Amino acid sequence: MLSHREALALKNASPSEFETFTHRAASLRDEHWGKTLTYSRKVFIPLTTMCRDECGYCTFVQKPGTSGAYVMTPDEVMKVVREGEKLGCKEVLFSLGEKPELRYQEARDALARLGHTSMIDYLAEMCDLVLKESSLLPHVNAGTLSENELLQLKEVSVSMGMMLENVSRRLLQRGEAHFACPDKVPVQRLRTLERAGVHGVPFTTGILIGIGETWEERVDSLTAINDAHLRHGHIQEVIVQNFRAKSGTAMANHPEPSLGDMVRTLVLARLILDPSISLQAPPNLEERFAAYTAAGINDWGGISPLTIDHINPERAWPQIEALKQATARCGYGLEERLAIYPRYLREPKQFLTDNIASRLTGIARADGLALQQCI
Ligand code: SF4
Repeated sequence: MLSHREALALKNASPSEFETFTHRAASLRDEHWGKTLTYSRKVFIPLTTMCRDECGYCTFVQKPGTSGAYVMTPDEVMKVVREGEKLGCKEVLFSLGEKPELRYQEARDALARLGHTSMIDYLAEMCDLVLKESSLLPHVNAGTLSENELLQLKEVSVSMGMMLENVSRRLLQRGEAHFACPDKVPVQRLRTLERAGVHGVPFTTGILIGIGETWEERVDSLTAINDAHLRHGHIQEVIVQNFRAKSGTAMANHPEPSLGDMVRTLVLARLILDPSISLQAPPNLEERFAAYTAAGINDWGGISPLTIDHINPERAWPQIEALKQATARCGYGLEERLAIYPRYLREPKQFLTDNIASRLTGIARADGLALQQCI
C-alpha cells in the first residue's frame, strides 16, 4: 500500500515510475478480485429532482416552479420497477436531491400530497413498496443521513451510498463547486460515512475529480474513506468519477480532467484503499475501458437496460454485451453482481436486517454474485 509521501509523489511520477505504480495497482486488483470485472443491472429512480444544495456542476437539480422539478408518485416509481424486473434488473437505485423540504414550500406541498413531511420518510415507503411488490433490491443514494434516517432506511434497503466527493472545505467558498451546499460540508458527509459504519450498512462512496480540488485533497479524501473502512469494514465500493462540464451550470466552462488524470487517480485509489474495497469507474463517462482496467478497477457500477443516467443524461450507458466484449479484450470476464457485494452476504448479522437477508436467497449465487434468471 502507498505511504502518504508516495501518494503525494504519484502526481509527478515519471513515466517509468508511473508504469511501476500502475503494475502494482493492477496486480493488487488481480490478487483480490481475480480476472472478473462486475456490474449491477439496475433501474434508476430519480425520486425528486428538487434539492436544497446548489452544486456548481449539477444539472440533475431543478428549482421548484420549473417544469423539471418533481417528486415521483408511487405509480411512477412502480412502473419503472416493473419494466426493469421484466428486463432482468435486480437493483433499484433511488437517487434524489437532498432535503428539499427544508428549503422549499413546493417540496413540502408535494410531500404533503403523498402523506409525508420528510423526503426520507417517503423514500423509506417507496423502498418498502419495491420490496413488497417486486423482486428488486433498493440501493439508496440520499446524501447525508442522521442516525435515525440510516436505521429507518436500513430496514428497507440492501445497501446505501453517498459520494464523499472531497474533504476540501475550500470548495465551499464563493465561486467554488460547493458554494451554497450545506450538505457538501465535508464533516457532514464524513459523519454519514461513520454512522453507516457504526450501524453496519454496506456503503458505496467515492470522489469526484476535477472540481477544483488539489491532488493532496484527493489523497486526503481517499485516506478518509479508507480510515472509515478500517474502523468498520463497511465501504463496499469506491467510485472515482470524473467531472464533466455541462452547459447551463456555473461550471460550464471549467476544464474537465484528462484521461491521464483520471487514470493516475484510479491508480492512486487502488493503492491507497484497502484491497477489499471494490474500485469502480463509470463506463458511460469515458469509454476508455482498457485504460481504466489497466489502472486497477474491478467494477463498472450500475448499468441500466431501461433508464438513462439522470445525473449525466447526455452520456448513454454502454450496452452490456459491448461492455462484455470490451472487458474480454482486456483479458477479463464480466459478471453481474447485486447491489450488495458478496462478502457482506457472509456476515448477515452485522450487515443485513432479517427482512433483507431473506430476500437474497432467491437472487444470489453461492459465491454472492447475481443468479442469472431467464428473462
Ligand atoms: S449534486 Fe446532488 S446535492 Fe448537489 S445540487 Fe445536485 S442533487 Fe443536490
